[in-house]
Amino acid sequence: MANPLKTFLLPDLLKGMSVTVRTFFTSKYTLNYPEEKAPQSPRFRGLHALRRYANGEERCIACKLCETVCPATCITIDSDVSDDGTRRTSRYDIDLFKCIYCGFCEEACPVDAIVLTRIHEYHMENRGENIMSKDKLLAVGERYETLIAADKAADAPYR
Ligand code: SF4
Ligand code: SF4
Repeated sequence: MANPLKTFLLPDLLKGMSVTVRTFFTSKYTLNYPEEKAPQSPRFRGLHALRRYANGEERCIACKLCETVCPATCITIDSDVSDDGTRRTSRYDIDLFKCIYCGFCEEACPVDAIVLTRIHEYHMENRGENIMSKDKLLAVGERYETLIAADKAADAPYR
């Protein structure tokens, strides 16, 4: 049975209002984005990239573990045998509209080929730009390899 005192005096409402009043008089901090940016973790999960080894060789061996583990089924991979006899992807697409940025693909990859970078300030202007093709993913990887390698190294002791 409801407590009549609680019903008429509304202590829960007063408790809530006391938080509002307390907060009202404390100084606020406003982040002036994009001039100011909040700190990011090395594990930040932003735009995807495909990496190469230092000698330029693609890391990806087309094992399709990332495609299998992806809960949003947004990775599409076709594989083929390359000129040197190794198995390589002939198609590697990620649909950014379907991706939920869970990072499972990165976790599953045995050769650190697919990674989620810190990059989160990107947009699309035309239909179809949500598909990150292999070429686009490799281009992101090449451009940000130094940052990706540093983030991987920073996170390594916790793995
Ligand atoms: S981050 Fe998650 S949802 Fe996005 S491609 Fe990777 S596994 Fe799929
Ligand atoms: S990115 Fe990694 S997990 Fe995905 S197919 Fe290539 S090697 Fe396998």
